[in-house]
Amino acid sequence: MTALESTILGFPRIGAHRELKKLVEGFWSDKISEATLLMEAKALRAKHWKVQHDAGIDLVPSGDFSFYDLVLDTAYTFGAIPARYQALPAGFTQYFAMARGLQKPASEATGNHAIDVPAMEMKKWFDTNYHYIVPELTADQSFALVADPQVVQHTREAKAQGLAPKPVLIGPVTFLLLSKPADREAIDAFQPLRFAAQLGTQYRTLVQQLADAGAQWIQVDEPCLGLDLNPEIEAAYRTAYAELTHDLPSSVRLMLTTYFERVGDRMDLIAELPVHGLHVDLVRAPRQLSEVMAHLPAQWVLSLGVVDGRNVWRTDLTAVVECIQPVVTELGCARVWVSSSCSLLHSPFSLEFETALDPEIQTWLAFAVEKLAELRFLARAATLPSLEAVSSDAMLSADLKANQVAFASRRGSNRVVDSTVQSRVRGVTPNMIRRSAAFTERYAQQVDRLQLPLFPTTTIGSFPQTREVRSARLKLKRGDLSQAEYNSFIKQETEQCIRRQEGWGLDVLVHGEFERTDMVEYFGEQLAGYIFTKNGWVSSYGTRCVKPPIIYGDVHRPQPMTVAMSAYAQSLTAKPLKGMLTGPVTCLQWSFVRDDQPRQVTATQLALAIRDEVADLEAAGITVVQIDEPAIREGLPLRRSDWDAYLQWAVDAFLLSSTGVKPTTQIHTHMCYSDFNDIFPAIQRMDADVITIENSRSDLKLLGAFAAHGYPNAAGPGLYDIHSPRVPSVQEMVDRVQALLQYLPRDRLWLNPDCGLKTRGWLEVEAALRHLTQTAARARTEC
Ligand code: GLN
Ligand code: ZN
Repeated sequence: MTALESTILGFPRIGAHRELKKLVEGFWSDKISEATLLMEAKALRAKHWKVQHDAGIDLVPSGDFSFYDLVLDTAYTFGAIPARYQALPAGFTQYFAMARGLQKPASEATGNHAIDVPAMEMKKWFDTNYHYIVPELTADQSFALVADPQVVQHTREAKAQGLAPKPVLIGPVTFLLLSKPADREAIDAFQPLRFAAQLGTQYRTLVQQLADAGAQWIQVDEPCLGLDLNPEIEAAYRTAYAELTHDLPSSVRLMLTTYFERVGDRMDLIAELPVHGLHVDLVRAPRQLSEVMAHLPAQWVLSLGVVDGRNVWRTDLTAVVECIQPVVTELGCARVWVSSSCSLLHSPFSLEFETALDPEIQTWLAFAVEKLAELRFLARAATLPSLEAVSSDAMLSADLKANQVAFASRRGSNRVVDSTVQSRVRGVTPNMIRRSAAFTERYAQQVDRLQLPLFPTTTIGSFPQTREVRSARLKLKRGDLSQAEYNSFIKQETEQCIRRQEGWGLDVLVHGEFERTDMVEYFGEQLAGYIFTKNGWVSSYGTRCVKPPIIYGDVHRPQPMTVAMSAYAQSLTAKPLKGMLTGPVTCLQWSFVRDDQPRQVTATQLALAIRDEVADLEAAGITVVQIDEPAIREGLPLRRSDWDAYLQWAVDAFLLSSTGVKPTTQIHTHMCYSDFNDIFPAIQRMDADVITIENSRSDLKLLGAFAAHGYPNAAGPGLYDIHSPRVPSVQEMVDRVQALLQYLPRDRLWLNPDCGLKTRGWLEVEAALRHLTQTAARARTEC
């Protein structure tokens, strides 16, 4: 039977059981040798290619494998190695030092001097929760291709396995746009696109080597084509690709690959580039298809990203077949590929290991391996003239039927739809997203009721999750500790934590969050509409993985989630105790979300659940409630023109969760960033009584936004950096208070660390918080 070419943009390199994590971490801790690491990693790649091949994928990606991160690999491949690593031995020592820093005491092996180099910076990969290593470039950066680059080696491996490898490269312009200046001071003068031609030439050599290794098609990822462009970026694309393709043999073909955003409105530029095909993300941006088709150069191949690489749901095969059959009719089979929307790096590995999921819900899901089978189906079905032809095809009809049955079950399922929740969502009124009194009025009442001193002190929520806490949780899970024993252990930890905070003289206390592993998981486990997988790991950074919960149905709160714990903690102290919740946008952002309703609706449902929790906390006598929203900023759309719409519903969701309280109840929020300038009005509209933010690592100037906008509410920009064990002195913190007072009025400044303390040890926490309360005492008289 005829079929289109099927492909994916990348496979979950970590392995079905996080094999790569174990290998690399084993190597770091000297448990396995470099030779073993290389050999086992090679075996893992071979296994992954076999899985793809057996599932019917024609063009298997090569070079999508990395020991840490593909952007780092790209920097390494082109010799963009920052000066501080240049003296280290080339190879893994240098590579992993770039990834995670290197500290070694002086010894003969180190040439008798100590080594201490910090890691390169990590950033979120577009709007995913994967983090890449940010390349650092100097003003006179030069690029030089390493000998026998990894991607070429891997391409040879796949070829030797008898497959058709499609090497994956991060494109030159995207690479440059993701870079930062090696010298922090040079930020204003940083013009990475100046290197477009030089880097393009180096890519050309690499592409030639890939062709020699047997690659016919090369996937060049340029996700930046979907972002906001300007004439300079457009020019860089023309220059880089002209250099890259200069004098290349005509047998080499380049698939310009975009994802995470629409590029239909960029077709003028794209069509000018000397490539041979375009991949578009039709999951994220389905409506671009007609524009793309209208401007696609004759002869180009169009790769249709129709299977969602970033989510866990089965593809609606009926809908996709109907969408792509006309494309095939117009372009012909030879010019159309079917593919995942983006790399499957962002998908869990396989459903095969989910033995405890609700069986009905399981039929709605497809992880990476299951997505391969969907692509195989689509590659065949798309060549038939109609859906009817697919339904009556002997090879395809059963799969189509099974898919339709799963969709029908999902659509009509009472596990998904909860009419009470839906009518509550429809019943949200403007009054439900605003406080009943203005800030000044309610803050005065709060200060009075809570007896707050000038410069009130507090913390962000969590206290050290010690080995004892983690081991108690493990014992509970294994059944070595009964639920009652575990609960009483947590209560003891909480009581100790309260006593300590009282002893240090903090003004607003927290319970310490000992009962929580993760700020989203803890709530997801208690909310209806969420499920958890056993093995649904996805890469977060390096060897680290996260296991996001899945929101499958209308979300609601069957019963109070934190009230008992907060009320217990409050009963131990006369000081106000702050209830701790995770906000709706963060719950949304850090979960796999439904694709059958807009994110906004899911956010509203989460907000209603949290609103109920806030009300119950208030009724139980809790006077301060913090709703953490560290993820509001990272949810920003990739294009600026889409920001307003997002911020509108995201802030509305926060308001819905937080405003159903009396004026005397104080609402805090917390965010782990402080580059506010560009979204400041939205932060202001959140109208939290107190906002605590990470500040210690960023420049104080960023707080300029507060002053410039005349931020009216109270704020606690972190007094010190909790990401390091270092204990700041009282004088240092007093100086900081003084600096903060340049931007914020003294009657609205709070003193606190810049984030939760769960990763710290008690000794340093104690020392730092004693200094913090001493700082407050001095500030009250001196500032
Ligand atoms: N309340 C949370 C904690 O203290 C906040 C975590 C966060 O900011 N990411 O751990
Ligand atoms: Zn934080």
